[in-house]
Amino acid sequence: MTMGGDGGSLIPIAMGHAPAPNTLLRQAYDMSRVLAVTSEIYPLIKTGGLADVTGALPLALNAAGVETITLVPGYPAVLQGLKNPGEVWHFPDMFGGHAYVIRGTAASLDLLVLDAPHLFNRPGNPYNGPDGREWHDNGIRFAALGAAGAAIGNGLIPGLSFDIVHAHDWQSAMAPVYLNYHHGPRPGTVLTIHNLAFQGRFAASLFPRLGLPGSAFGFDGLEYHHDVSFLKGGLCFADRLTTVSPTYAREITTEEYGMGLDGLMRYRAASLTGIVNGIDDAVWNPATDELIPHKFSRGRIGQRAGNKTALQRRLGLVESQSALVIGVVSRLTSQKGLDMLLENLPGLIADGVQLALLGSGERELEFSFIEAAARNPGAIGCVMGYNEQLAHLIQAGSDALLVPSRFEPCGLTQLCALRYGSIPVVSRVGGLADTVIDANEAALTAGVATGIQFSPATPEALEDGLRRLLILWRNQPVWQRMQRNAMNADVSWRNPAAHYATLYNSILAERS
Ligand code: ADP
Repeated sequence: MTMGGDGGSLIPIAMGHAPAPNTLLRQAYDMSRVLAVTSEIYPLIKTGGLADVTGALPLALNAAGVETITLVPGYPAVLQGLKNPGEVWHFPDMFGGHAYVIRGTAASLDLLVLDAPHLFNRPGNPYNGPDGREWHDNGIRFAALGAAGAAIGNGLIPGLSFDIVHAHDWQSAMAPVYLNYHHGPRPGTVLTIHNLAFQGRFAASLFPRLGLPGSAFGFDGLEYHHDVSFLKGGLCFADRLTTVSPTYAREITTEEYGMGLDGLMRYRAASLTGIVNGIDDAVWNPATDELIPHKFSRGRIGQRAGNKTALQRRLGLVESQSALVIGVVSRLTSQKGLDMLLENLPGLIADGVQLALLGSGERELEFSFIEAAARNPGAIGCVMGYNEQLAHLIQAGSDALLVPSRFEPCGLTQLCALRYGSIPVVSRVGGLADTVIDANEAALTAGVATGIQFSPATPEALEDGLRRLLILWRNQPVWQRMQRNAMNADVSWRNPAAHYATLYNSILAERS
């Protein structure tokens, strides 16, 4: 069997092995079975929020009666972390090498792992080599993931039929593309946009290797400014599109936020839904969190103080309960807006505020924060790199958490902050707008505020937001009320999972 390669028929979904697909679930919409396809999944492999979502949503869906199995590439970390592995399929030729589908589990997740050593058995993160540069064959690597997702979703593996294939971001977006070109019954398809900025764009020379009909490389298909765009293909062909907040769903239909795809987003607006992410409230639970020294809850909020001291000690900050500690846990890229924080640092230091920052990303930003910390010992503490334990300590020990993004599809750190009683200070964009209740007069009077929103995403508006934060900090009864509200907010996956279940059912109802 070949997977593309010869430009001939689309073998992944033209194979004769598929059992009659979907019969069970067509009869009972509330019992659908979903194949999620993703390039990252927590706790096995994570570079950002995508992994958090794909690691937590299946568990919430299972609890809501929607059985979800997830297909993920067989990177070394995934294969090493897989429990009870068993081979369920063999592709003798998947884009130039053998590939196996291994079924197993990890942290209660039901997984299918695409073990294609020639594509995924590599060091580095899922997309880049150890030198930080993208792998030259990422187009083929993630076309393979999409093709395998399409084939498996279409019932390739005996005993495993699916009603819905749910792809995440450009890395899996080829699954709905391949399924679109399959003749005959196929499962419904959903593509979730976690960040429209990442589009999986490759030279047109890739196209003949994908095994698709020539018509797929068109204005209403994969072609994007003479290149191939996996995301655009998925956006054209998935039955439904979702993104991770209602505000971002609206924003991406505009030129300002549409990343060049706003025309297509407007064209498909009727099929586009925004569903806010949740967080895994077992992993992010201050009452049981093994990564923080002092457990606490809404009723025992006084215990937070010990975490604040631990954080100050860890980052070399002056140990003081009265100093307002602002935390940051972020990628350091222009999206995240932390250059605007740099501009505001002198004012914050003058006001006696402390900064606890954990991040990694663009060299220039990393350097600027390291330099600022060196100039302000005891007031600014920075750690560059990825550190799960410190991320939890910052949430548990900071008084406020800053997320000044220029755009933010959903954002997860502000959700963690709410759960840990750290007051989020956010720009009013995307999911940040949808998850934080600004402490304006009306919200304060009604006693429902959970944080601060500022707008537009400029250094001046941020300064204004930080000024409002300081005023609230100096009024501790109001501050503590906000903290309790924040910790009361439902940031779990329960509601989002119910929305996804409804969406899947509506696709099945349409297709029956
Ligand atoms: P994005 O996916 O755009 O980076 P999100 O807010 O959606 O942003 O998700 C970021 C996730 O990655 C959160 O779970 C956050 O705690 C985590 N994270 C970000 N940077 C770091 C870091 N340097 N160390 C540990 N965790 C991090």
